[in-house]
Amino acid sequence: MSLAGGETLRQGDADPLLILHDIGKTFSNGVTALRDATLTIREGDFVSLLGPSGCGKSTALRIIAGLSMPTSGHLEWRKALGEDSVGFVFQEPTLMPWANVFDNVWLPLRLRGVSRAKAAPAINALLERVRLTGFEKAMPRELSGGMKMRVSIARGLVTKPRLLLMDEPFAALDEITRFRLNNDLLDLWQDERFTVVFVTHSVFESVFLSNRIVVMAARPGRVFEELAVDAAYPRDEAFRTSPEYAALCRQASDVLVGAINATSAEARHGRH
Ligand code: ADP
Repeated sequence: MSLAGGETLRQGDADPLLILHDIGKTFSNGVTALRDATLTIREGDFVSLLGPSGCGKSTALRIIAGLSMPTSGHLEWRKALGEDSVGFVFQEPTLMPWANVFDNVWLPLRLRGVSRAKAAPAINALLERVRLTGFEKAMPRELSGGMKMRVSIARGLVTKPRLLLMDEPFAALDEITRFRLNNDLLDLWQDERFTVVFVTHSVFESVFLSNRIVVMAARPGRVFEELAVDAAYPRDEAFRTSPEYAALCRQASDVLVGAINATSAEARHGRH
């Protein structure tokens, strides 16, 4: 769909990248973290998994990442992605404390045998994109939480992944830092055209970032409802304070409340 200013909504006709078919995950302790989760991730999507704690968001992300195997259902990759084509960013930046910023970002390339000299142009370009130029030699302990997360994002993107998986990356940051990182992440996403699956429990963050929100419910973890966020990109500070954004947040919030109520009703009736 074409919008004013030539901007294009990034949803709808794009090819599926990945389809989750009736994915279930029951752990050996009997907890069903995910039941019958069906979900299509399209190329170029920015999809948020939104829901209360314990609804299986991280489990779904770990299954997509190949870090955990589903106990039922299957994943269908519609595009063959190489090992470099999936990047991860977790809530904890998990930087190597003994290595400087540059070397932390180099790590994924280094593990693939790329020398420092050969990796340097890509690393320097990325550090510029995450506003860390001048901090190449800084050690993690010298950085604020937001800067550490910027390093973590650069490290997640250094292999130029087609799919970036993010597990509550900004949950531990103060609001101002979080807003800035949201803006910078969207800029990167628009320029580099990777696909994002983003786990969050923030309605405001999911609406700001995503073209699609998958609202999940808990006990058992499941897909409750999908919402399209029909607002044009780029989204900036003007969008953040717009009536349109407020209305979209209210809509998503209503669905989330429904998911939370469904959780407690089902749990009360012992249906988990
Ligand atoms: P979310 O990310 O939405 O908070 P999770 O996917 O982390 O939810 O967890 C979903 C449910 O599965 C929770 O009840 C959690 O306690 C349980 N769970 C997660 N990982 C394990 C595990 N390794 N073993 C047993 N239960 C787990």
